[in-house]
Amino acid sequence: MEFLQRLGLSMKVICFDRAILAYRKLARSFHPDVNKKPDAEQKFKEISNAYEVLSDDEKRSLYDKYGEAGLKGAGMDMGDFSNPFDLFESLFEGMGGMVFGVEKEIEITRLESCGTCDGSGAKPGTKPSKCSTCGGQGQVVSSARTPLGVFQQVMTCSSCGGTGETFSPCNTCSGDGRVRRTKRISLKVPAGVDSGSRLRVRSEGNAGRRGGSPGDLFVIIEVMPDPVLKRDDTNILYTCKVSYIDAILGTTIKVPTVDGMVDLKIPAGTQPSTTLVMAKKGVPVLSKRNMRGDQLVRVQVEIPKRLSSEEKKLIEELADLSKGKTATSRR
Ligand SMILES: [Zn+2]
Ligand SMILES: [Zn+2]
Repeated sequence: MEFLQRLGLSMKVICFDRAILAYRKLARSFHPDVNKKPDAEQKFKEISNAYEVLSDDEKRSLYDKYGEAGLKGAGMDMGDFSNPFDLFESLFEGMGGMVFGVEKEIEITRLESCGTCDGSGAKPGTKPSKCSTCGGQGQVVSSARTPLGVFQQVMTCSSCGGTGETFSPCNTCSGDGRVRRTKRISLKVPAGVDSGSRLRVRSEGNAGRRGGSPGDLFVIIEVMPDPVLKRDDTNILYTCKVSYIDAILGTTIKVPTVDGMVDLKIPAGTQPSTTLVMAKKGVPVLSKRNMRGDQLVRVQVEIPKRLSSEEKKLIEELADLSKGKTATSRR
């Protein structure tokens, strides 16, 4: 298999079960939760593609015969059916809720064990019989002529999927042992998550084929930006406007924070574009209790475009005064 080779795994005589084991091992090492390398996610997707092909008889036989093009020809674009994030659900929640963690109900559609056949895939009351294609071996030998010679490959039997047995399929699940169902699950989102954070919920993913154990569910968090408070990692950025008079004389204003409205002292003589730090008013640091970022407040000083005649007169007096001051200091 081209995918597995690309990932440094040879498909030669990997039978179905071993391929699944290899997949699990690889998937674990490239999972974006574990592996922070930039290409880990791409690798994880490729591995999942390979797994999809391996775990689906129809796709596997198409791939064995025609390669990747066979899947595309059959309208099964790799990008389409094999998205490992199929089960992923995006969560939308305003920042106020997410900063401190939140419990959230989500609805997922997943494959669950079929109740009719108890997950076995066999029609109730029937018994499996030896596969006639592989004689119960679960594997077939095929040879391929290549420029380097004739290669023999041991392939998983596509008739029985490597089990060596055939059975009358259950009517409810067509022999897969799983049915698609929608379920609501409650999700605890920890404090400090950001967009792109992935949560793993153990054993809430798809059920395994024919009674296999269930996989995990991954939830990708998307935090809705707050219109006022911008998040920058664990800090919160906010811009406040004060009049030139308040900037000169100093004042106290109310500022929105993730904790609610908080008083902020603007010191006398604050310059335009000064950044004031509201310590520990930012986002809790994920996995570190009692640690929080800051809220950074940028002060925008507003200069009036129009003045009343009285204001103008006072400003002019002020101008005369400062001219006088300059004149005095020059003398
Ligand atoms: Zn069934
Ligand atoms: Zn067979």
